[in-house]
Amino acid sequence: MKSVDDHLQDCLEGITALEAIDLQLLDAHGCILAEEVVAPWAIPGFDNASHDGYAVHAADLANASESAPVELPVMGDIPAGRPATLSLQPGTTMRIMTGAPVPDGADAVVPVEWTDAGIANVKIKRTPDLGAHIRRIGSDVLGGEQVLAEGTRLGPAQLGLLAAVGRDRVVCRPKPRVVVLSTGSELVEPGMPLLPGQISESNSFALTAAAKEAGALAYRVGIVLDDPRKLLDTLEDQLIRADLIVTTGGVSAGAYDVVKEVLSRLGTVEFEKVAMQPGMPQGRGTIGPDSTPIFTLPGNPVSAYVSFEVFVRPVIRRMLGVEPLVRPTVRAVCSDAFSSPDGKRQFARGWLSVEDGRYVVRPVGAQSSHLVNDLAHANCLIVVPEQVTDVPAGGTVTVMVLERRLS
Ligand code: AMP
Ligand code: MG
Repeated sequence: MKSVDDHLQDCLEGITALEAIDLQLLDAHGCILAEEVVAPWAIPGFDNASHDGYAVHAADLANASESAPVELPVMGDIPAGRPATLSLQPGTTMRIMTGAPVPDGADAVVPVEWTDAGIANVKIKRTPDLGAHIRRIGSDVLGGEQVLAEGTRLGPAQLGLLAAVGRDRVVCRPKPRVVVLSTGSELVEPGMPLLPGQISESNSFALTAAAKEAGALAYRVGIVLDDPRKLLDTLEDQLIRADLIVTTGGVSAGAYDVVKEVLSRLGTVEFEKVAMQPGMPQGRGTIGPDSTPIFTLPGNPVSAYVSFEVFVRPVIRRMLGVEPLVRPTVRAVCSDAFSSPDGKRQFARGWLSVEDGRYVVRPVGAQSSHLVNDLAHANCLIVVPEQVTDVPAGGTVTVMVLERRLS
């Protein structure tokens, strides 16, 4: 049997980051920046008030106090958006709003709370520091400064920064488009009634969500019956929008394992047994005119999900151009003993928590590959090496962290 590591290497073979494209800002959310972004102007672009109040010459207020306020005539209002062409004469003031340009000559803004909020004249009860409540030009970003480096992941704050420097489009590596389809004539859309022998289709929901979490644009195709023609037609239809195709089911040794049957014939998809539990039967290769990568995962829900995490997620991340490709692992103390098959790497479902400042992991339920309930109550996979057959209670294990939701 092939090792997990060798299979992962083969899965990643020939996979490269997608070519950069020019995207509108919101379409770039979650993508990796493929250019260096330089601010064409300073931010702030002009000295402006950080507080609603009064623009002043600080020297006029040297002796202002609660008991002896200084009264100044208010020469006008400066709302946000007013062109920055006003100037302030000593001995006067102007009412100014947050974000409005500070008039020439003013060297402080007095918060409205320090005053009687007068409109024609204002009484000011405190002395401001020089420069108080003025946001200086370029104090955030200098004109010509590099604000984002190539390779930055574009989250909400980065998109905000791009917009602030006036960008409406940005060159980035797009998210890989991942098409997820499930094969099986026993499958029924959730929400539909079940006839005897039928089950609600669940893999494609888990894997579409997992692909999104990995950073992909994921499309759930849903159910394809175990019929060679239907499978081929569906694959052909989906190739147009796919950078990567994931299928589940139909890859073991059954008579109706149509994925294996159909794709083996193409000659570009290889089916192998990988020394792991769950997830032994794996297929990978390429299809279609653009040699689109395809991963055919086993149908059992836990096998499908674990296979996705171990093999497909790294492929998606390489297409995105992000590191690390694989999930982070931690070392944890295992609370309970459990066994593991000889010669296979086991990915056992577990619940990772922190107790007394150290990681503790509890195996969750039995390790059969159809147990969707246990999988849904795990937050990690306990990775048991091939040669280990017994994990003792209190033993130290490697844990692949699936989510940061620790208790
Ligand atoms: P297969 O790999 O097609 O032989 O399927 C293995 C097992 O997984 C069978 O019990 C299937 O009914 C089940 N299975 C396959 N595909 C799905 C799916 N998309 N959702 C839920 N269970 C599935
Ligand atoms: Mg099947």
